[in-house]
Amino acid sequence: MIVMKFGGSSVANADRVRHVAEIVLGQLARKPVLVVSAMGNTTDHLIESAEAALKTRSVSITKIEELHNKTIQELKLNAVVHEEIRSMFEELRSLLIGISMIRELTNKTRDYLLSFGERLSARIMATYLCSIGCKAKALDAWDAGFCSDSNFSSAWLLKKSWSLIPERLLPLINEGILPVLTGFIAKDEKGSITTLGRGGSDLSATVIAAACRAEEAQVWKDVDGILTADPRLAPDAKLVDEVSYEEAAELAYFGAQVLHPRAMQPCAKMGIPVRVKNSYNPEAQGTLIVASVEKTRPVVAVTSRKNVTLVDIVSTRMVGQPGFLKKVFSAFAEYGISVDMVATSEVSVSLTVDAEYDLTEVEVALSALSTVEIKTGKAIVTIVGDVKRSSEILSRVFGVCAAIGVQAQMLSQGASKVNISFIVNDSESSDVVKAVHHNFFGGNVC
Ligand code: ASP
Ligand code: MG
Repeated sequence: MIVMKFGGSSVANADRVRHVAEIVLGQLARKPVLVVSAMGNTTDHLIESAEAALKTRSVSITKIEELHNKTIQELKLNAVVHEEIRSMFEELRSLLIGISMIRELTNKTRDYLLSFGERLSARIMATYLCSIGCKAKALDAWDAGFCSDSNFSSAWLLKKSWSLIPERLLPLINEGILPVLTGFIAKDEKGSITTLGRGGSDLSATVIAAACRAEEAQVWKDVDGILTADPRLAPDAKLVDEVSYEEAAELAYFGAQVLHPRAMQPCAKMGIPVRVKNSYNPEAQGTLIVASVEKTRPVVAVTSRKNVTLVDIVSTRMVGQPGFLKKVFSAFAEYGISVDMVATSEVSVSLTVDAEYDLTEVEVALSALSTVEIKTGKAIVTIVGDVKRSSEILSRVFGVCAAIGVQAQMLSQGASKVNISFIVNDSESSDVVKAVHHNFFGGNVC
């Protein structure tokens, strides 16, 4: 069997749903399991409606209703699904009224609310497939074995999902049924709905593929695959035809918005290939993600992540003493702040965090140990490539930075064999990506 996941823009309207059905029919012999995201921007619209209910007490799901109703009409779906979807809208409206009355939106309520997007799209997709003669069946993730912890908004699947998922899905597939699953969502052990984090449908798909030992996981997007850089920054960006799981994970985490950063883990564990394809251009070969790739180029891709804060912690007294780093990182852990890059010297530790964190309390805690300097407005530029060739990569990268007058403010070439990252000012990062990309991929320099 194979797993085929279609993202929001791949199922954004009736036309796209028909198109996806065509792609699926072309691979029916490979026994697909489908995973769908919420249609178009439905997840964003759900968040907006919750915020409106919370802040202004207005309860409106007009955009969501219009999109789904129009799609159902255009696809000429049956009355049963009409009724089912109508009652889901009722439930959604009641939930928003609840939020507006209690004036509280917890992560738990938010997850329940966001689950409607995927639940609606899976029903529409499955009903349409049935209407064209396919034996499809919509399944909510929890009915297909997705059981998570209670870390609402960014839940982790429990180990038992790995056996539950094949137990639930394989009998259906063997009966010739085409399961259409909601991506992104699960239930915890108490039966509350959870979500796996934004973009989490990728992870749903790779978990199914790994748990069922699928032949491959196909992740259908609205771009041709992983590119050597963001094409908005580097118009000459090229498709990367093959990358390793590790490279894909680093790229996802450090800014290439093609895949969910955690999505590689399940397939990497089981050695199941992941193929990124473009539903708007199905003939394009896409990017294949596998365990290891013969390296012919020093650099696979250049990416950047903006809105980063650099924290410099300097102490002449403590560094070199056992336990100093423990204290530093415990302070971040205590306030739930995730650290991305780290570099240390004898007297200082530099690290980066996402700009969205409030650092007031951690700054107070760290000031007891050392001098703390917080520098906002930074960006991480990440080069994913063959770290064994780091001297060559670094000399070229910093040659480029010097030529355009940019100073690298911190550098980290961690334990990963594929990632070299450095910090520049946010305002410079686009130019750096463009120039570094041009050095490695423009013309015939490599
Ligand atoms: N619909 C969710 C989101 O937009 C999950 C996904 O698309 O993977 O984040
Ligand atoms: Mg989406």
